[in-house]
Amino acid sequence: MSNIYDEIRKRALDIIDKDLFDRNMKIKARALTTEEAIGNPEADDFLLMKGKERLIQAELEGSVGQAFTDQYGDFDGSLKDILESDPSNNYRRSIFITSLNAALRHMGVKEGTIHCRDQEPAECAVQLGKHILSEYGIPKIKKETDFKSGHKASIDKEKCIECGLCRELCRWGAISEGYTVDSIECEGCVVCFHFCPENAINFPENTCGKWFISDTRFGPMVHAKLGVAEENSGKLVSLVRSESKKLAEQGSHDLIITDGAPGVGCPVIASIGGANVVLVVTEPTVSGAHDMERVLKLASHFSIPAMVCINKFDLNKDKAREIELITQEKNAVFIGQIPFNNLFTEAMVQGKNIIEYDPGSDAANTVKQIWDRVKISLFENPKQ
Ligand code: SF4
Ligand code: SF4
Repeated sequence: MSNIYDEIRKRALDIIDKDLFDRNMKIKARALTTEEAIGNPEADDFLLMKGKERLIQAELEGSVGQAFTDQYGDFDGSLKDILESDPSNNYRRSIFITSLNAALRHMGVKEGTIHCRDQEPAECAVQLGKHILSEYGIPKIKKETDFKSGHKASIDKEKCIECGLCRELCRWGAISEGYTVDSIECEGCVVCFHFCPENAINFPENTCGKWFISDTRFGPMVHAKLGVAEENSGKLVSLVRSESKKLAEQGSHDLIITDGAPGVGCPVIASIGGANVVLVVTEPTVSGAHDMERVLKLASHFSIPAMVCINKFDLNKDKAREIELITQEKNAVFIGQIPFNNLFTEAMVQGKNIIEYDPGSDAANTVKQIWDRVKISLFENPKQ
């Protein structure tokens, strides 16, 4: 069973009346039809309508609770049985959550235990949007620009005589029987362009996505969004970094934080080139240790001082210790480790960082200490 369910069960056992257990109160649960679940809303794109999920409903002496699930079925048993069971699959988890909702409703601790219906989801979305805007604001996009990279073929139907040569030569199967190019499949290899006897194939520059300059409550941010099935590239990362440098110089900002691309490929090289220091945030897993080691090699190759921090280190203390040793071997600085803590998720759900959400917590203090060490390293390695 995962940690989150351990935590929920622990808290539930603290809150729920012992009387509910002692009376061996019965829970009855079943999956609802779409109409029973959400009525008849105007929108037709709810996952419930597409059949990917169902809403399961539990009843405890007339008090109702609901939960989403992709594994559903009936249940008839006591609340005690449920809270003592191991929610090892999505069916059991949904029974666990929906029964908990029904019990909390029964005790009067919680009211919103059932899904809204008919037009209520749309109204709720509007209210939610207003709430997020008023409470937290959002990055305000000031500038939006197309990002173009590489080329994709496109067939001019006026010139095409449908000889079939391009279809025959395209190794990617990107050209349909009707002689249209699938831009997702097209690898831009230029073969069709060169061999078309009628010069019917154009090869325009490909728009892969967009990049933005936004204002946030922490200062300006340069960011990008790739189109569907478009791959990240060093070119895009370099563009984002050079625009952020211009912005920093214009606004006299003395620090640029680049959130590096994950992995070890070309976008990572573009992320760290020319940086004062590199901070690797890893996790205590085999792939975490492996990728960290490769990024440290990369940083060393470019003679950039590197630091390492382990997130959720207590989920695998042996692996965390191994990472610490690798850090020393690679002459990087180990600047700290952060334990697993649900507060980070709670903060994220609230749209806040941990310092804003719970400034006095151990989690916030750990992050502050790590940031202090990062600042020292920045001071020791000033911009050349
Ligand atoms: S090779 Fe040229 S002319 Fe022949 S089918 Fe393809 S686009 Fe049309
Ligand atoms: S450019 Fe290459 S991949 Fe794209 S359609 Fe032509 S032959 Fe196929």
